[in-house]
This record gives sequence, structure tokens and C-alpha cells, in this order.
Amino acid sequence: MRIGSGFDVHAFGPGEHVMLGGVRVPHSHGVIAHSDGDVLLHALTDALLGAAGLGDIGQHFKDTDPRWQGADSAGFVRAVLAMLAERGLRVGNADVTLLAERPKIGPVRAQIRDRIAQLLEVLPAAVNVKATTTEKLGFLGRGEGLAAAAVVLLVDAQ
Ligand code: MG
Repeated sequence: MRIGSGFDVHAFGPGEHVMLGGVRVPHSHGVIAHSDGDVLLHALTDALLGAAGLGDIGQHFKDTDPRWQGADSAGFVRAVLAMLAERGLRVGNADVTLLAERPKIGPVRAQIRDRIAQLLEVLPAAVNVKATTTEKLGFLGRGEGLAAAAVVLLVDAQ
């Protein structure tokens, strides 16, 4: 078994939705990002890479590469999952946390869980989606952006 963690932040910018765990969530702002700026999937991708000892998302999907301009971050997760499969690893479970004052994910929490489970090729029961605020403190508390943390456990594919 191997464990990995990931963390990501994006600032809010102009827009009317944010991508969270592969789900389009209506919001008063978008995020500033090279790809689609999905903090949950970016943190998750880093956790997967970390668990496998494969570095970080920036090494594999450079934010200056035109290929990833506006990219669907689900592609990052799928690409890393393929690297894991080559190494005889699969996901055991994943726990992700959104840190933000808004948007509130209550209405889409189950949808995000199902989508992440689908991407990770595990049952929804192997995925947990949490959310917290920072009690109005700091850049997250001021609503300047959003952050996400992820922890994953990898197990032998056999
Ligand atoms: Mg990111």
C-alpha cells in the first residue's frame, strides 16, 4: 500500500461557474487557471502522483503547455491512473476536501463523489468528499479563491 497527499489553490476570476471534481458548479465567479482550474481534481492528481512516487502535476502537465489550455482536468486523472496501472497499482480509497467559503457543495456533493469514483475506477463508497471554510480567515475566508486537499491510498492491482 502507498499513501499520497495533494493540495491545490486557484484564485477566483471572471466567470459564472467553477469545476469541482469534474462537476460544473454555478458560481458568481470562475477561476483563473491554465486548464479548467478544477482544484479537487488537481489535488487528487497530485495525491495519486505522490503515492506512486511520480512527482507532481506541474512536472507532467506543465501550465505553460498549450495542450493543457482550458483542458478538462479529468484527463489528468485518467493519464495518471494509466501510469499507476503500468506499475501494478490501483486506487484503494480517496478522501478529498474543498476549502472555501463559497460555493457550498451540499447540493452537488453526491454528484462529485460519483464522478470522482468513476474517474478513479472505484465504487462511490471508496470516495469521500468533504468541505470546510476557514472561518472567514485569510484569502479563502475573504472569498478570493478556493483550495482543495486530497489523500489517496494505492493498493496492488492484483
Ligand atoms: Mg491547479
